[in-house]
Amino acid sequence: MLQTKNSNSNQITNKESLDLSIVVPVYNEAESLSPLIEAIANAVITTHLSYEIICVDDGSIDGSTKILMDLARQRSDLKAVILRRNYGQTPAMAAGFENAQAKAIITLDGDLQNDPQDIPLLLDKLNEGYDLVSGWRKQRQDAAITRLLPSKIANWIIGKVTGVKLHDYGCSLKAYRAELVADMNLYGELHRFLPALAYIEGARITEIPVRHHPRRYGTSKYGLGRTIRVIMDLLTVFFMKKFLTKPMHVFGFWGLLSLVSGVIMGIYLTVVKLVMGQNIGDRPLLILSVLLILTGIELFSFGLLAELLMRTYHESQKRPIYRVREVIE
Ligand code: UDP
Ligand code: MG
Repeated sequence: MLQTKNSNSNQITNKESLDLSIVVPVYNEAESLSPLIEAIANAVITTHLSYEIICVDDGSIDGSTKILMDLARQRSDLKAVILRRNYGQTPAMAAGFENAQAKAIITLDGDLQNDPQDIPLLLDKLNEGYDLVSGWRKQRQDAAITRLLPSKIANWIIGKVTGVKLHDYGCSLKAYRAELVADMNLYGELHRFLPALAYIEGARITEIPVRHHPRRYGTSKYGLGRTIRVIMDLLTVFFMKKFLTKPMHVFGFWGLLSLVSGVIMGIYLTVVKLVMGQNIGDRPLLILSVLLILTGIELFSFGLLAELLMRTYHESQKRPIYRVREVIE
């Protein structure tokens, strides 16, 4: 690359100078760290790609932080990003993405459950022209009732709602093209919806079966409570997918429908009262009419507000409402 003259293009050169960034969120994984980094390096060296490992310490309290800092000082291929406190897996991954410099990004867990030997396989698939390759833990080694069952149900629902057909959204082992990740903002537990978010952005997505091992050291950071948070995030993603750039289409439609039917009922009741001279004070229809009119006005104004917010969201960040795959001249 030729851009080295000014500082701005320097950044571009830097950003593209590596082939592969491997992002690992770490929260209390002291015993796993050293063998994990060793295993990643061994797996990646076989591909002869230039790479960096970015471990994000998410406020560990078991000494992982110190181990990571020492390792990063010894190894030139390791960068340690130490967060101030425990934010959760999604922010930790976002911090890793922010620091990643390569054209391709791999994510995996810091607990040795994912197998670094699968990295070359994911990369091969990525090179076939996909933007995102997700791992599928075909033989998942976690507790059956508390983990596998909820996960099966969650995967089914996520597939139905988002329209992305993957077997295993929860698998952290994934490969991404860097441009794709740069376009996405992560909140909540949204890292598991990266494929769905990527799909919204028009990415080409696929999956391959990967190995999965039981946890060797430490304990899982999650229990059943995660399912509820995942479902809430799913609703957000669903909304974003459908209506991010056109909220009025949903709120406006239902608002108008509600308002119009309420008004029709109201007119009917007025006729009954004035023309036929009947009493309408005790009719349930009167309550329904009032309810529909109020709800309608509310939905409608909510839609208008959402339109305003959406505009602020896109325009303040100069976020385009489309994504270009490539431009050919
Ligand atoms: N993790 C993190 N911050 C958290 C919780 C988890 O960075 O608040 C990391 C954790 O160290 C691990 C990965 O996220 O590398 C997945 O966590 P875990 O293995 O506990 O999840 P499970 O595999 O049981 O779904
Ligand atoms: Mg794990």
